[in-house]
Amino acid sequence: MTKDDCIFCKIGDREIPAEFLYRDDFVFAIRDIKPEAPVHILIIPFAHIVDLSSEPTERLHALGSLFSASTTLAKQLNVTESGYRLVVNQGPDSGQWVPHLHMHLLAGRPLSAIG
Ligand code: 5GP
Ligand code: ZN
Repeated sequence: MTKDDCIFCKIGDREIPAEFLYRDDFVFAIRDIKPEAPVHILIIPFAHIVDLSSEPTERLHALGSLFSASTTLAKQLNVTESGYRLVVNQGPDSGQWVPHLHMHLLAGRPLSAIG
């Protein structure tokens, strides 16, 4: 899948409308369309980075931005104390569905049963 037919690039470019719960120069955050917890946010780099096998400098910068945004979002959503889980899927065995790097922020219920 190229950038041209990437759903997350289209959302980031505002070709497809979605509410941004957070944005900075590098990443944006939207609600997952199929939530697995009361709070299920996707944090997504604007740049079309396919997955964790991307070029090291690009990857390190993207991951730093994703983690930094997740801390801000967790505070914004008031789940820092109650707790949350961050997930990045990599490749078919993980169930990665969208080939554009993203981080799931899950919260709002006990998550211990989710592997
Ligand atoms: P993955 O399995 O690739 O880590 O996760 C992709 C996630 O993106 C899934 O949880 C799926 O529900 C979500 N998703 C896929 N398409 C859309 C969309 O168009 N809008 C939103 N908000 N979420 C999407
Ligand atoms: Zn993309």
